[in-house]
Amino acid sequence: MTQLNLPDRRQCVACGREDTWDEETHNWRIADEEGRPFCIHEWDINGTHNPIRK
Ligand SMILES: [Zn+2]
Repeated sequence: MTQLNLPDRRQCVACGREDTWDEETHNWRIADEEGRPFCIHEWDINGTHNPIRK
């Protein structure tokens, strides 16, 4: 059985916002930089992330 390697961190390439994954609430939480409030965040994890964990 393969397990999805969910990233525990992501950053917006547009405004620089950083999120970390909260295991307890199963939701993204702002890690550091809040970024712009109306930014359509474009996360750096799309496409480049390897989905399979070994
Ligand atoms: Zn953003």
